Amino acid sequence: MPKVDASLIRLFLSIGGLLFFLFFEVTASYRPNTVSKLKRWSINLSLTLFNTIFLNLIFAASIVNTIAYVTNHHLGVLNMINLPPYVRVFITVIFMDFMLYVWHLLNHEIPFLWRFHRVHHCDLNMDVSTATRFHTGELAIAAIIKISLIFFLGADFLGVIIFESALLLCAQFHHSSLKVPHWLESIFWILFVPPSMHRIHHSVVIKERNANYGTIFSIWDRILGTLLTQVNQDKIRMGVGAYPKQDKLNFHHLLVMPFTRPVK
Ligand SMILES: [Zn+2]
Repeated sequence: MPKVDASLIRLFLSIGGLLFFLFFEVTASYRPNTVSKLKRWSINLSLTLFNTIFLNLIFAASIVNTIAYVTNHHLGVLNMINLPPYVRVFITVIFMDFMLYVWHLLNHEIPFLWRFHRVHHCDLNMDVSTATRFHTGELAIAAIIKISLIFFLGADFLGVIIFESALLLCAQFHHSSLKVPHWLESIFWILFVPPSMHRIHHSVVIKERNANYGTIFSIWDRILGTLLTQVNQDKIRMGVGAYPKQDKLNFHHLLVMPFTRPVK
């Protein structure tokens, strides 16, 4: 598949998913906003646009080139064994999602990484725009690790496209402030991450924040003991305790945040 197609799929899903979840979270929100949605959206989308310009264009091409290189040179674990194409796709998606779980956990446990990841967590309300609110530094380190993992695994191209698309849509869904019927959440939670599970992860309470690290699948949290479910959803306060005020969380504050004082 040519490079341009992978970028176009990503662009189409990003904008399509953003508008889709925005429509539903505005018409059926699980609770009222405590800060201006317009203000938060302008900040979150500015950061997203900034990252897209400075990072995504460079790394998207590097990821595609790495997959082509390992496939052509028979490098990486998957290229050393003869497997049916659907098994290669399946292993790629499962492996990449598990590695993302580990990376997310490390972002909370290693103080240097938390300096960057707190930019994502200090959003005072959570909605679909939070899904792409990441510091450029965090995304740059993550992209380098992702390229290394693709090289090690000999990742399948279709598998990476499916993983990246599922990752984007799952992140938009579980960050959205959409009111999801309880029965649907219960079924979804068995294998995947619904909004209520990820809301606990965005709580100011550190014990609640250091749980529910999954992005696509909830099975890693279940297996490795980081799943937290018994939290009163109505009482969850979003954000990072050290940053309670929206007027200290503007675009320029977020850009310099990793280089300011450490906070828990
Ligand atoms: Zn997190």
